[in-house]
Amino acid sequence: MDNGALDKDGDKQSGSGYTRGKKGSDDIREATFNTGERGPAYAIATGVDQISCINCFVIDLDCGILDPNVVGETASQSADDLYGKHVRGWLERDPVLAKAEVRNTGHGLHVLLWLDEPIICSGEDARRWDKIARGVRNALPGDPKLNGIIAMTRPVGATNNKYEPAKTVTQLRAGEPISREEILDLGHRLVNTPAHLWMRVFHGGERVSPCPLCCGGNTSLGVAGNWQVQCYECGRVDAASLVYRHYSTEFLKKRKDCTHG
Ligand SMILES: [Zn+2]
Repeated sequence: MDNGALDKDGDKQSGSGYTRGKKGSDDIREATFNTGERGPAYAIATGVDQISCINCFVIDLDCGILDPNVVGETASQSADDLYGKHVRGWLERDPVLAKAEVRNTGHGLHVLLWLDEPIICSGEDARRWDKIARGVRNALPGDPKLNGIIAMTRPVGATNNKYEPAKTVTQLRAGEPISREEILDLGHRLVNTPAHLWMRVFHGGERVSPCPLCCGGNTSLGVAGNWQVQCYECGRVDAASLVYRHYSTEFLKKRKDCTHG
């Protein structure tokens, strides 16, 4: 049985990676921290305590963990399709996410929020920013295991050979830099008013009909306070359901198995 092992970058480890000399030596990543080094993951990866400079916040959207019944069959297989059918619209509905660069990294998308000025930090401060980074990636149904401020992306033009056939990393949109205040604002809204944020991002407003959770004919789902949404069929539910409904059943089951041993 596939144990769903994920490496530090959140990608599934493929058996073929082990057959090419040192694992991942031809698999080039780009650090979003410190000097923005490029190289194999094992060469540029570092710990939160080694971070002195944050340049970017990353959300990793992996086609393979999304539910084809929700995003559609093609979007669960093609990152270009996932972007065109869903992610572009999601990003455009939020003033901070709208500034993200997006890269097709092969079998998924990296949503990159580049800072206009690097955040210089160390120690305690780096750990605080790491928590903020882990909060920010909850904006979208990304890989929940992705690292915070030590996340890596892949350079545009690099080859992602984790999958057969190998894919070239492309930029789907350039985006524009954001300020430290903007990333803090996004993090703040995800903690304090996520129901408003997710309803707007995924459904364009405070109410959507029919309800996407139960799909009942005459139902509608609306914001019910800062953390919950409500439908007459579903009752009041945690707004996080708006994110979690995008994950495939298999993925959620694996997560549960991992969490509960
Ligand atoms: Zn409902």
